[in-house]
Amino acid sequence: MARIVVKFGGSSVADARKIYLAARKLIALHKEGNEVIGVLSAQGNTTDALLAKAKQIDPDCHGRELDMLLSTGEICSVSLCALAIRRLKEKAVSLCGWQAGLFTDGTYGSARALCLQNDRIERELKKDNIVLVAGFQGVDENENVTTLGRGGSDTTAVALAAFLKADRCMICTDVDGVYDKDPRKFVDAVKYDRISYNEMLTLCRGGAQVLHDRCVELAKRYQVPIEVCSSFQEIPGTIVH
Ligand code: ASP
Ligand code: MG
Repeated sequence: MARIVVKFGGSSVADARKIYLAARKLIALHKEGNEVIGVLSAQGNTTDALLAKAKQIDPDCHGRELDMLLSTGEICSVSLCALAIRRLKEKAVSLCGWQAGLFTDGTYGSARALCLQNDRIERELKKDNIVLVAGFQGVDENENVTTLGRGGSDTTAVALAAFLKADRCMICTDVDGVYDKDPRKFVDAVKYDRISYNEMLTLCRGGAQVLHDRCVELAKRYQVPIEVCSSFQEIPGTIVH
């Protein structure tokens, strides 16, 4: 039995069909006898839509209330996926960031994940649940909801893998791995089988969107290998190690 964190990006949970595909993938891993923690992003362009809504009210909005609002996108995703898993007759529970105990500093809009402050995920795993944790969010020492910065669900996945001592951390996305340039734009892009943390950080800083740079820093610090792979194609991805 292994403990596996599996993250799905926003395009991989964008509609009901894709939520079901993600649910089935999580169930398959669970049926192999693994403890499964799913981390989800907000569906499609939900975060941008929420941001646009907030800007209609206050064009300069930032800080606590904006983080509170943006955190809701990921909460929708995990509850929908839990509904799908339950409909498929398996056990699942969804948790938002504070319920999962993901403790951060108080920097709204780009908070840093520091530790887990409770054992809720462990308890839910013991009950044989597939545990779905809302990405991109945590809670600070004043019990306020924080967000981890755009693309931050990757960092949630790596933070949970580190703090829960997971055996595997899979980041499932709409590309099937890490390429030397954007495979959606360049036909001659070459996929890496393996890439070091430092090489990956260089790619991130050069503008590669595939992983959040903070997630790579965290993975390097805690020595968590990341498997970047396709959400729905069963082909080998890229190991960041
Ligand atoms: N939903 C957030 C964003 O769009 C976080 C994420 O998807 O990783 O940036
Ligand atoms: Mg992303």
